[in-house]
Amino acid sequence: MTIFLCGACGTSFEEAEEPPETCPICADERQYVPPSGQAWTTREKLARTHRNAWVQLEPGLMAIQTVPAFAINQRALLLRTPAGNILWDCIALLDDATKAIIQALGGLSAIAISHPHYYTTMQDWATAFDAPIYLHAADKQWICRSSDHVRLWDEDALVLSSSVTLVHGGGHFAGGTVLHWTGEDGEGVLLAGDIVQVTPGADHVSFMWSYPNMLPLRAAEVADVAERLAPWPFERIYGAFSHQNVRKDGQAIVARSARRYIDRLSQ
Ligand SMILES: [Zn+2]
Ligand SMILES: [Zn+2]
Repeated sequence: MTIFLCGACGTSFEEAEEPPETCPICADERQYVPPSGQAWTTREKLARTHRNAWVQLEPGLMAIQTVPAFAINQRALLLRTPAGNILWDCIALLDDATKAIIQALGGLSAIAISHPHYYTTMQDWATAFDAPIYLHAADKQWICRSSDHVRLWDEDALVLSSSVTLVHGGGHFAGGTVLHWTGEDGEGVLLAGDIVQVTPGADHVSFMWSYPNMLPLRAAEVADVAERLAPWPFERIYGAFSHQNVRKDGQAIVARSARRYIDRLSQ
């Protein structure tokens, strides 16, 4: 019996003799099946050809990304707080080196994921560090492999500690979640996944229903995401991909970006 991983999105599936016929995450219009067709790999194969690279983004926050790129190529973020380490979003490769490094840093007290594109092998990370996985209940249909560690929540916000709160933003996925952290300097940090997509200039953000298929959200949905984030002050924004680091004015950038998006749709 094998745990198969989708080659295009990194999602892991229940143990089986054969891979599933399709990956529901990639069959959905918010992802895609590559023109070469659905491909599968395993955790063992992935660990033979790939490794994880670490970058410190600011004090208390590190990015973990698989090299060479695998699947969607998002980064996971390791947030270090006095109340414990939190893994924000997830990547498919959890190799022995990554386990040893995280263990040496004190393990994980929680895992939280923005939306189903990054669920990947969250079940293995949760087992390795005996940590709960916080997922918004509105996306539970997209959990492709069960785990006793999953904790579904459905409030507008979920406080994880005095410095960390999960905020329900919606938009790209019904349960789309962002993480608000006070930051070690108290100025506020938003971990955005791709619920709030940082643009290449890192001076705006955008909001899409499907990024690969370039399908927008409706104006009312963009307004709703902006309204849900408005009460949370933050200077920095870290998105799902390696260049997506907004260093200042984050809150104003989100508000301004939502207004220009809604203007484009209403002209
Ligand atoms: Zn997939
Ligand atoms: Zn996504």
